[in-house]
Amino acid sequence: TASPTSNGKRVLLAKPRGYCAGVDRAVVTVEKALEKYGPPIYVRKEIVHNKYVVDTLRKRGVIFVDETSEVPEGSLVVFSAHGVSPAVHAEAAERNLRTIDATCPLVTKVHREVVRFARDDYDILLIGHEGHEEVEGTAGEAPDRVQLVDTPEDVHKVTVRDPSKVVWVSQTTLSVDETMERVNQLKERFPELADPPSEDICYATSNRQTAVKAMAPECDLVLVVGSQNSSNSKRLVEVALQAGARDAHLIDYAHEVDEKWLEGVETIGVTSGASVPDVLVMELLEKLAERGWDDVQEVTTANEKITFALPRELRDGGRARS
Ligand code: SF4
Repeated sequence: TASPTSNGKRVLLAKPRGYCAGVDRAVVTVEKALEKYGPPIYVRKEIVHNKYVVDTLRKRGVIFVDETSEVPEGSLVVFSAHGVSPAVHAEAAERNLRTIDATCPLVTKVHREVVRFARDDYDILLIGHEGHEEVEGTAGEAPDRVQLVDTPEDVHKVTVRDPSKVVWVSQTTLSVDETMERVNQLKERFPELADPPSEDICYATSNRQTAVKAMAPECDLVLVVGSQNSSNSKRLVEVALQAGARDAHLIDYAHEVDEKWLEGVETIGVTSGASVPDVLVMELLEKLAERGWDDVQEVTTANEKITFALPRELRDGGRARS
């Protein structure tokens, strides 16, 4: 039943949303590195794909670079949550950089799968988005054995040496449904295509998609808080639309909500990507409350309890590797 003030206006707030264990660990890694070693700390690429997080850390003395070649010899560099290829580790060692690796353990897991399948002489079909940092790092584990499959056209382009020795793996932040579509297309070409030993799309990605799917059919509008370069956040917009939301948008900040989006809208779904601090969601809820959407109901589809230990360089007695 609608509360007296709601006029049919209500907000459905997805749970789980926002920070995953890997992002939390990566951000805390940089904060602890700042405390322990003092600024400046270099971070290769954005530590996580979120504008607010990156800007906040930059103000505290973090210098973000695109490549390790931009880091002065002997300095400390943190590798981002998305992972890096062995070539990047080698380059850092050559330049005498001290390193802390904030790669999410669930990305590392996919790296290990690639190493193992390459060693067993498989052709590896990596489903993922061209140009994404995670994909570059994962493929870099076995550049001669990995082929990227992004679009349906790519399914027809890949070539394998032995159709009975081919396996697929994936980026961790894809749409679960779209990935299965791609796998089925690949299996039409390669009926013996092997599955990875366990799900590569991570728990956080799939949980956030499940929560959005649960609320989307009731939503006139879904607002996803997240940055444009955040793969899992972008997927949430797509999943919302596919699951029946009439409209959906990705925003970094509450002030980006366009008045036009709100016209004729009663139910607004709100969620956020895995790299988004909840303070940004709270700001959005405040803004919506000012506009009359003050009835907020949480839609819970899972309770997450996963946490990851910090990189060992930052645990007691640890030091950056050089
Ligand atoms: Fe790790 Fe998944 Fe979070 Fe990426 S989205 S950092 S893979 S838990």
